[in-house]
Amino acid sequence: MKTYDVVIVGGGIIGGSIAFELTQRNLRVAVLDRQEFMREASWAAAGMLSPAPDCPAAIPLVPLGRASLALYPKFVDAVEDASRQRTGYRTGGAIEVICHGDAERELSTLVALHHGLGLACEPLPLDEARKMEPALGRDARAAALLPDECSVEPRALTSAVLAAAASAGAALSPGVEVTSLVLEANKCIGVKTSSGEIFHAAQVVLAAGCWSSQIPDAAPYAPTLPVRGQMAALRHSGTPIRHVLRSDRGYLVPRGMKSPQTVVVGSTIENAGYEKCVTSGGIEKILSAANELAPELAKAEIIETWCGLRPGTPDQLPILGPVDVDGLVFATGHYRNGILLAPVTAKVIGEWIAERRTSIDWEAFSPLRFLQARGDRSVTA
Ligand SMILES: Cc1cc2nc3c(=O)[nH]c(=O)nc-3n(C[C@H](O)[C@H](O)[C@H](O)COP(=O)(O)OP(=O)(O)OC[C@H]3O[C@@H](n4cnc5c(N)ncnc54)[C@H](O)[C@@H]3O)c2cc1C
Repeated sequence: MKTYDVVIVGGGIIGGSIAFELTQRNLRVAVLDRQEFMREASWAAAGMLSPAPDCPAAIPLVPLGRASLALYPKFVDAVEDASRQRTGYRTGGAIEVICHGDAERELSTLVALHHGLGLACEPLPLDEARKMEPALGRDARAAALLPDECSVEPRALTSAVLAAAASAGAALSPGVEVTSLVLEANKCIGVKTSSGEIFHAAQVVLAAGCWSSQIPDAAPYAPTLPVRGQMAALRHSGTPIRHVLRSDRGYLVPRGMKSPQTVVVGSTIENAGYEKCVTSGGIEKILSAANELAPELAKAEIIETWCGLRPGTPDQLPILGPVDVDGLVFATGHYRNGILLAPVTAKVIGEWIAERRTSIDWEAFSPLRFLQARGDRSVTA
């Protein structure tokens, strides 16, 4: 029988970041993943660290996103120190480009929305934007600079986070599929795996991405659903792109500053179930958005295509915190923002598990909201 203080289900960026946080609090932690670690959404992500809402439903997330962005420099230092691996963290801002419609009106709406949410955003005259980014296309009608936004390389970051957790004592167990929670008198005392083995723990953290809803007894609290995103990586020899470039049709995220430079382009947002495949229509869509932003990229070599399944939720907000079963905590449903939200998620889950308090208001993200919405149970936790 294996016994830990905390068992974490899921070895993506969320499970890994929580494990690293908890080991620093001297807890005995195991992270279980049904396959090799970091093969899912955390491996597929673009790595933009943008707290800006991409739709009205995402507005309640802005304070959490800002808090996480502020934690990033220390988080990256701690992870890079402990793992001796690099994370590809880059500051320097993003440029939002408007190519269609009434550009001046859209620009002032964008700036006002950001300012109203406490986010830095300034109109950027197009001649200045082109000085900053010579690759910017002729279709650009207006632009804004989001100077506080950053980016990271998600594969490097997730690998470093898991290595940091392991170096601090976390037991990483790949190839261990959790099939159910072990419940005893309204308390979760561990998890059962597909081989029948039981991992006992005082606390179980559910961080299984879009598959969280497939674990019986977890589903009512975490009705996660997969939202497919297709991506491509291009290699070009033109002037290196320095900022994340974004439009309402897609985005470019540069990796490194040397020529030839790799640029990651994305992404589709598709409800395709759990089917992970790259389609010609999906790639056509993201490449055409990329070529509109930076036409020189039409000459770039396509070096990789891939897709991933974002952990979506019915209200597009993450699922964070304890429930009305003792010893069970959720950290899932991060949808399009799991890379951004990893540091703050690790912080609040760590505070809750070790101190039974949180320094950040997470009420809006409680897993109990889904029970309340369905009127299933009387909610006491
Ligand atoms: C194309 C794309 C682009 C994105 N771009 C960005 C971006 O620019 N910025 C940003 O902040 N976010 C971005 N995201 C979102 C981000 O990737 C996710 O929110 C984040 O990776 C979720 O992390 P996770 O650890 O919860 O899930 P995952 O990385 O999916 O990890 C879940 C893990 O749980 C394991 N698991 C599942 N079921 C079980 C089980 N029963 N037993 C054991 N293990 C199990 C899986 O094998 C997996 O390893 C993007 C996502 C995609 C797909």
